[in-house]
Amino acid sequence: MNEFSIIEKFFVKKKNRPDVSIGIGDDGAIVSVPMNHELVITTDTLVNNIHFDEKTSPENLGYKSLAVNLSDLAAMGATPAWFTLALTMPQVDENWLTEFSHGLFDLANAFHVQLIGGDITRGPLSITIGALGFVPNNGALLRSTAKAHDNIYVTGTLGDAGFSLKNLDFARTRLDRPTPRVHEGEKLRGFAHAAIDISDGLVSDLGHILEKSQKGAIIFVDQIPLSDTLRALSLDKVLPYALASGDDYELCFTMDENKKPPIECTLIGKITEDAGLRLEFSDGKKYDGKVDGYQHF
Ligand code: ADP
Ligand code: MG
Repeated sequence: MNEFSIIEKFFVKKKNRPDVSIGIGDDGAIVSVPMNHELVITTDTLVNNIHFDEKTSPENLGYKSLAVNLSDLAAMGATPAWFTLALTMPQVDENWLTEFSHGLFDLANAFHVQLIGGDITRGPLSITIGALGFVPNNGALLRSTAKAHDNIYVTGTLGDAGFSLKNLDFARTRLDRPTPRVHEGEKLRGFAHAAIDISDGLVSDLGHILEKSQKGAIIFVDQIPLSDTLRALSLDKVLPYALASGDDYELCFTMDENKKPPIECTLIGKITEDAGLRLEFSDGKKYDGKVDGYQHF
């Protein structure tokens, strides 16, 4: 199969968005951004043996390559619309391509995003997706705009993806098929002061908000939401995952302490005027357990 028949067979889909005037097939794609909206653009690469391994099925890989990008758009409060796919593969494996595109379009259809172009090259397996979405002018959620006394919230539960990497009998669904919090991100527009998606772990990603906003925070470690499976284990064992393991793709956001969040989420701490991140239990005891990737500043 040549490049063009691969594209035709696996990546050109009939269902199309009306805001795409030129999709796959020309030198570039042409799309219309709605009036009074700004374009939000993000890209992420997944490389074989670094971001995934042979335990990840091609279907889950297709799903996840798009999911991590939609999660970035969600963290900006953007409505996803279009994406590009640059695929590098060692050989043309039709079974692999069939499964990969199933996983990819499962998620693309769920969020009404259209593949509008890409590239195919030969080489070690790697997948780069660029995703585009839009927000009302000046409506995007940023890392840099947290305010002192804001409450800090997270969606979902934390630590499951990281825990499943180290504990082989634990379901890998959270790791392989993370749900990008797109609808939550859209609802947070006009509410959240700052937001980020948790791809590298809560401490590390909240750290980005603190650094960009020039603020500090206190996290009450025993308020971090945990799945039933993790909750059944000792806090000592699961907190390092909940605090520092990546791949959860939940949203972490800050909001005025007097406002009620418009989505399901859990209050886990406060933004402080003083720099630095304090990890404590609700009764005031310091958390002195291990936190990988914790950077003091
Ligand atoms: P060019 O040589 O101009 O870069 P290509 O021959 O690489 O164009 O691609 C032809 C068309 O197919 C372009 O519209 C391109 O965006 C699209 N395309 C190439 N690879 C992919 C892919 N993996 N997924 C979707 N569209 C693709
Ligand atoms: Mg090309």
